[in-house]
Amino acid sequence: RMVILRCRFITINLAPIRPSHFQSHKILHTTRFFRTPNLISTPRITSSSLPTTRSISDEARFARSVRFIPPGVEIEELTDDMVLPGSNIVIGPFAGHSQIKQVEFVKSSARARDCPKDDLPEIAILGRSNVGKSSLINCLVRKKEVALTSKKPGKTQLINHFLVNKSWYIVDLPGYGFAKVSDAAKTDWSAFTKGYFLNRDTLVCVLLLIDASVPPQKIDLDCANWLGRNNVPLTFVFTKCDKMKAAKGKRPDENIKAFQQIIRENFKQHPPWILTSSVSGLGRDELLLHMSQLRNYWDQ
Ligand code: GDP
Repeated sequence: RMVILRCRFITINLAPIRPSHFQSHKILHTTRFFRTPNLISTPRITSSSLPTTRSISDEARFARSVRFIPPGVEIEELTDDMVLPGSNIVIGPFAGHSQIKQVEFVKSSARARDCPKDDLPEIAILGRSNVGKSSLINCLVRKKEVALTSKKPGKTQLINHFLVNKSWYIVDLPGYGFAKVSDAAKTDWSAFTKGYFLNRDTLVCVLLLIDASVPPQKIDLDCANWLGRNNVPLTFVFTKCDKMKAAKGKRPDENIKAFQQIIRENFKQHPPWILTSSVSGLGRDELLLHMSQLRNYWDQ
């Protein structure tokens, strides 16, 4: 049953249309959340370029082109106040209790088949080393020590399960892109983590963390494209959005725009994305609400 549900969640077609900077194949990404399958020719519109008066069809086209529309929401019903601030995510009827009341570390697993077997839904958190993954997990659960588990020597290459409210898991996955790791170790990471994505039927969604303080990184785009090609539902979580003066002179909003542009070229439907900062708490409650609607939909 779980497998069928997950397959219904996202279906992807591969079709080479136009080579992008990073990927020679365009990923046609459709989910049952989206109503129109053919949006490649839709004009690229961002919320900041929206005209104040639009016809219904323009409105609908805009909504379909950049927003993440959850089940239970009709495009015609969409209003701006249904979109989470700092994101493209529409909140629908499946959103519910989202706050984390209790969290406990359950186990570290070396392989997907060693992970907990109680069939609870899980949301995995993934990103480059130093992207702010531990900080985000600590910010979400409002505890300092939780994500430290994965920072202990020897635990960095393990899948760490944290049980939340006794009903679902946050999964801390090994970071990728360690500058000092040898090629052999990088390959290990790939096989290991890919095994998890391909075999974990209870995986509701991957939060792919993207550092907004640096320009788009090839390794992040490769990862996003790999997840897309393998039908793994993902949400882009931009981290460090408080850093107004960032490395290499670009500000987070410019980096995010550049990243989204590349994603738009690769994905037929733009996956959900949200801006966060573990320092200011930006996006925390919104991300939790989004996670609740993904979970509740999966759970039904
Ligand atoms: P991890 O390796 O992905 O777990 O990253 P960490 O959570 O350890 O964070 C890496 C670095 O980024 C640390 O120096 C953090 O203090 C910093 N950092 C993490 N999140 C934020 C954020 O939201 N804003 C800012 N300004 N810095 C952050």
